[in-house]
Amino acid sequence: MALLEVRGVEAGYGPLQILWGIDLDVAAGETVLLLGANSAGKTTLLRTLIGLLPCRGGSIAFDGERIDALAPDQRIRRGIAFMSELGVFPTLSIDENIALGGYFLPEAQVRRRRDALFALFPDLAAKRRQPAASLSGGQRKMLGIAKVLVAQPRLLLMDEPSSGLAPVFVKQVIDVLGSSIGDGTALLIAEQNVAFLELADRGYLIDHGRVRVSGARAELEASDAVRETYFGL
Ligand code: ATP
Repeated sequence: MALLEVRGVEAGYGPLQILWGIDLDVAAGETVLLLGANSAGKTTLLRTLIGLLPCRGGSIAFDGERIDALAPDQRIRRGIAFMSELGVFPTLSIDENIALGGYFLPEAQVRRRRDALFALFPDLAAKRRQPAASLSGGQRKMLGIAKVLVAQPRLLLMDEPSSGLAPVFVKQVIDVLGSSIGDGTALLIAEQNVAFLELADRGYLIDHGRVRVSGARAELEASDAVRETYFGL
């Protein structure tokens, strides 16, 4: 049994159906990449998984339990975290953002975990009392990652961690995520940037709300559909 089991999921906005029966699994501790062009439905899928959008058909199970009717906070309490493209609250300080990420956890645990993360992100530690708005784009993304990792989620859903970042920061994000792989957190990363494939055990290519290709990293790297989508070949 996978940690996350998505079966035939349908979702959309008002009369507009976007997802047409998505099947997807994430095993415990696994890193899975969700690839797809602009408007393929990646964000819609992540928002449906965390409960920000209703699941209109199919089922979502986490650790063997159906969660598709649960409110987002109930899903978060079960160990799922969601990092949106924006990721942080700009007017709050770095400390406050991280405290929010650990909102459901005992304070002492959050403090311990925060200190460990500050060791990983020294730039953030140096500016901890400043508003997140004072950070560079790359540092903000690091804060977004620290904010979700502080809760030590069992499954982290990430929406385009590379968005708006210069290539040098994209590489930093990949390195940071790579270093957190192996601490037990499973990752489902929606990305347009194929460089993230280097982190992935497996992946899915979605196209117009349907899974077009799925397989191990090497299969995606060799896939004509992935090449067409990303490189127009
Ligand atoms: P991107 O990389 O551009 O974010 P994506 O794969 O994440 O792409 P989605 O954001 O899930 O794609 O969008 C899928 C489709 O849903 C698009 O056609 C988009 O216009 C539409 N859509 C997204 N949000 C809404 C909304 N709030 N209301 C109506 N349609 C929406």
